[in-house]
Amino acid sequence: MCMCVCVCVPAMPYIPPHLRAGAGSNATGVAKARDGGGGSSSSGSNRDHYYGGSFGGGGAARRSESFSSNGSSSYGQGVGAGSSRDGGGGASSAAAAGGKKVESSRGVVLPDVVWPKWQPSERVRRLTEDQIAEVRARLNVDVEISPDMPPASAPIESFEDMNLHSSIMKDIAFHSYTTPTPIQAQALPVALSGSDLLGCAETGSGKTAAFAIPLIQHCLAQPPVRRGDGPLALVLAPTRELAQQIEREVKAFSRSAEGFKTAIVVGGTNIYDQRSELRAGVEVVVATPGRFIDHLQQGNSSLSRVSYVVLDEADRMLDMGFEPQIREVMRSLPKKHQTLLFSATMPEEIEALAQEYLSKPVRVKVGRVSSPTANVAQTLEKVTDKEKIDRLLALLVEEFSQAQDSNQVPPLTIVFVERKARCDEVSDALVEQGLKATALHGGRSQSEREAALWDFRKGTTSILVATDVASRGLDVTGMFSELCNLI
Ligand code: AMP
Repeated sequence: MCMCVCVCVPAMPYIPPHLRAGAGSNATGVAKARDGGGGSSSSGSNRDHYYGGSFGGGGAARRSESFSSNGSSSYGQGVGAGSSRDGGGGASSAAAAGGKKVESSRGVVLPDVVWPKWQPSERVRRLTEDQIAEVRARLNVDVEISPDMPPASAPIESFEDMNLHSSIMKDIAFHSYTTPTPIQAQALPVALSGSDLLGCAETGSGKTAAFAIPLIQHCLAQPPVRRGDGPLALVLAPTRELAQQIEREVKAFSRSAEGFKTAIVVGGTNIYDQRSELRAGVEVVVATPGRFIDHLQQGNSSLSRVSYVVLDEADRMLDMGFEPQIREVMRSLPKKHQTLLFSATMPEEIEALAQEYLSKPVRVKVGRVSSPTANVAQTLEKVTDKEKIDRLLALLVEEFSQAQDSNQVPPLTIVFVERKARCDEVSDALVEQGLKATALHGGRSQSEREAALWDFRKGTTSILVATDVASRGLDVTGMFSELCNLI
């Protein structure tokens, strides 16, 4: 269960876990890890692999932008190893990160992680405990901190008060995001402050931007990625479709950051193209766990520079059997990293995962979790197995004829089925009835799956018959108006 309590304690400076006294340097973490000692507060001790090091050469210096903690920007000079694109705002850096340079398994010196010392605007810093509690109550956000931790960052109701990198602000404006959603208002400042986060929010709540924006801000503060370096940030998601949505969101908010690269690493697409992209060096990898592990094992990527990790739809990843891969990645990370775990539900397995891999996380819960949205009407009809398809056809034909007769756009409808074969069978039966339907399941090629989703999003196809690859996290603009579970 996600226990949620509004916590109000006197304000004092927040120190993210990885910057606290006793948090060792990357170098220590890596050395320990290689010895099989775990090392990280968030690392397990039985380390099988260390996916460290660079796997190529070259040093691509890139134009850097400095931004101060009050959000004003100034363009700085190019950077080399050890410097950062965020010269100003992050009064932080190598020293705070723990000093010594880390050497990869191939003898390449890795730049230190930079932990920018982020602060919100003066206005937010001046909020009293009562005001903070009032904002949280209004946004329906619950916050729980780990024992002995200072208060969590206050919720911030405007992007302007978040002191974000100027390129991110430009992209926020470009995408017409005027106000943060509740999960963004609370999770963004927590993530920006460098704390680990356990987020509990419904799909459609805007949680992708809640982790993507701080991720980009974190990456912009790091020394540039060189050819052969692994990524700075990693997002793991359960399905290709969700990974693609996340990739789009990360790209949307990093489009103004010059040279910022995001790679998507999912099955069903050409592994060789992915390999060249990864080897050339990218800031962010958004991946499904299985394919990413393949790349690590083939030496196409490394975890040695990863310092920001997101596990999105973690409950779903566990349902899909990705726990070994998640653990493999988590225990192979460098010692100092920030972890954000998002899950729609909080079963015991997620609590256990959080306990093992998150360091004193702030728990943020928005709205009611794991319950259908209030404006959904649910109808249950009991039929025998044999009658199911006929009943479904009758229902949908009636619905679509009514829409046609009244000159209305046919309702977007998703029909969930359990098996791939059933998926095709139902879809074919609907098409035979003259309805525009398509099937979405793991047995179709990646391009077919993408085309099916694209057509559904555009409304060209009004009925999507899907297995559970589409059951969570998919954002279909305009939203479907009917959902049938035909197990
Ligand atoms: P998510 O829950 O991350 O899948 O987001 C659901 C939808 O909300 C996506 O289409 C986002 O582009 C959109 N969205 C997220 N945050 C905002 C915001 N602050 N303002 C407007 N739209 C948003």
